[in-house]
Amino acid sequence: MIPDHDTIVAPATAAGGAIAVVRVSGREAFALCDRMFRGRKPLAEADGYTVHYGEIMDGDRIVDDVLAAVFRAPHSYTGEDSVEISCHGSSYIVSEILRLLTAAGGRMAQPGEFTIRAYLAGKLDLSQAEAVADTIAASSRAAHALASTQMRGGYSDELERLRDKLLNLTSLLELELDFSEEDVEFADRTALRETMQRIGAEIDRLRSSFSLGNAIKEGVAVAIAGAPNVGKSTLLNRLLNEERAMVSEIAGTTRDVIEERANIGGILFRFLDTAGIRSTDDRLERMGIERTMESIRRAQLVIHLIDASALAAAVPEPDFALRPDQKLLTVANKIDRAPALLTLPENIIGISAKQGTGLDRLCEALRRAVDTDALYHGDPVVSNSRHYEALTTAREALDRALDGLGNGLPADLLSEEIRQVIHALGSITARGAIVPDEVLQNIFSKFCVGK
Ligand code: GDP
Repeated sequence: MIPDHDTIVAPATAAGGAIAVVRVSGREAFALCDRMFRGRKPLAEADGYTVHYGEIMDGDRIVDDVLAAVFRAPHSYTGEDSVEISCHGSSYIVSEILRLLTAAGGRMAQPGEFTIRAYLAGKLDLSQAEAVADTIAASSRAAHALASTQMRGGYSDELERLRDKLLNLTSLLELELDFSEEDVEFADRTALRETMQRIGAEIDRLRSSFSLGNAIKEGVAVAIAGAPNVGKSTLLNRLLNEERAMVSEIAGTTRDVIEERANIGGILFRFLDTAGIRSTDDRLERMGIERTMESIRRAQLVIHLIDASALAAAVPEPDFALRPDQKLLTVANKIDRAPALLTLPENIIGISAKQGTGLDRLCEALRRAVDTDALYHGDPVVSNSRHYEALTTAREALDRALDGLGNGLPADLLSEEIRQVIHALGSITARGAIVPDEVLQNIFSKFCVGK
């Protein structure tokens, strides 16, 4: 993306608050604002990191009383001269200020354009820029921790370390080419293999963190399964009511799947296909069962709900099979009706969905089923599918290089394979690299205007 020198303007806050912020960034930022800002002194004369009270004027008419925060290049988010105008949160005032700014020569910013400029100015690398959007979208403590580590560059540093190791390898291999007549090996092949294997293991670790990262970002998919009347909808309502759930309808490929979300213990959970759970009508039951099976397939965590009074005989086996990557929580409901002397096996959580008892333990078990330690220790966790794909490409290239090493591939070809690993890893942060416009556009189109 070619840097352009337009001065861009955009609202930076959503409508409806008491205060709204309009952002201005670019070479003409101060000149533009001074055309309508009437304060004690022009913003062009103000120091960076200072805030100025004044009025926004449309000719002789006062539009609003505002505070203008001044940022001077390069010490601003975009690296350019910037002003943030805080005005009253009226959509009319915001649109008037934007109208005046564009009439004075400013251009309305594209989605994410402020962050694109920050990236082009080298303030953020690409993965940090992506984390800005994730931070804004984070709706749980865990998702916030994830985005925050990435935004602060912890993850980029890890990738950079891997890249450096690989660059060392290629430079040793390429040195051999300069001495090709002499048939020397600067890169000891055994050490080379070991280093490559270590790097492979690190790439694998990052790749395997994606299932956690993605679950944290999108919400952990949970299915509630169990016989009719065992209390599935009662439990669901409990969990949702207690945790102030958000209900969302996700358009599936074949039909609409309803899922409901709840933030439990700092983690976002998505209860899948709750319409299936809620269809108690006999006619719908068959459909309900199929839908439950489908949501079990898609779940990362399955709550198998059983009736506590049935426990006196034996623990009913689930009538569904789980994959190794899926977790099962067995929960006995209706303990209020179970015989007083019933002791539950260790691994079964007893609850009364109706009375609300045992819910704490269940929520704790849900939370513990997701291993979030890595997140809170600041370990890099991959949550972006673009990064995951790049890591997969890197791993494949590394495998080819390892094969080549085993087959005595000449140094130049070996080095070429390793360069592909470097390239794939580098595309994640794209530090100092030229990123194709389509890639940037694709990434930043998901941003909101004003970010
Ligand atoms: P589902 O078919 O699995 O969704 O079951 P429902 O949630 O519709 O519950 C079936 C019946 O069991 C309803 O009459 C609920 O009031 C009752 N029920 C649910 N949970 C409990 C509980 O913890 N204790 C008791 N005593 N009844 C419950």
